[in-house]
Amino acid sequence: MPAQFGAGLLRVDLGPGVVAGFTTRHGGVSPAPWSSLDLGTSTGDDPARVRENRARVEGWVGAPVAYAAQVHGDRVLALGPDERAEWEAAEPPAAAGEADGLVTAQEGLGLGVLVADCVPVVLADPVARVVAVAHAGRRGVSLGVVHRALDAMTQRGARPADVRAAVGPAVCGRCYEVPEAMRDEVAALVPETWATTEAGTPALDLPRGVLAQLAARGVEAVHVDRCTRTDADLFSHRRATATGTTTGRQAGVVVLT
Ligand SMILES: [Zn+2]
Repeated sequence: MPAQFGAGLLRVDLGPGVVAGFTTRHGGVSPAPWSSLDLGTSTGDDPARVRENRARVEGWVGAPVAYAAQVHGDRVLALGPDERAEWEAAEPPAAAGEADGLVTAQEGLGLGVLVADCVPVVLADPVARVVAVAHAGRRGVSLGVVHRALDAMTQRGARPADVRAAVGPAVCGRCYEVPEAMRDEVAALVPETWATTEAGTPALDLPRGVLAQLAARGVEAVHVDRCTRTDADLFSHRRATATGTTTGRQAGVVVLT
């Protein structure tokens, strides 16, 4: 696995001049059930703690990090100088806008994607100097949010052959049980998502689906193959729901340095 623990971040190599990685539960200030590095604003956690947790991540990557208000769609928001100035003037932890992908060519502006079972994707073209993130849950995979993020990158000069991507920790295909009709519906769009749980019931393998979508575009990707549902170092919405509690959000982050 290419990722390594370092200052709370599972770092991934997306090329020279790019810092990227995935956070875990560890290194923050929030108490249970968000303990401890909760980066979400819709989790019920105290915004002051989320601000502090986000500030820690910004310290690790050496840049401010913008997050979108995610809605399980396929819109990709571009953060140019104007959007960046607007977001930086807002009271943290404000969202940069409503979207499920972010793209920028701005140096020193980090992009983040929040998850707790959905697939976080970070992308960079270190040659064209363009980065993006995508939030790929069941609906995002079906809608092709990763394709839209790649489109937004190529519109800004990126070449798929130069793009490097990392698919972060998410619920795995053995753990993400769904009704059979739902499996059929998603697999009709992205066949690689078709899976079965360890118990033999219908399931979806979203990380595998995202990797297939990236491969279809000729993009080289690494997979941080850790399952949120079973890994206590990571937040999992499904695990929390199963035990009648709530949970925090971890992030995928990328920045042009
Ligand atoms: Zn699993």
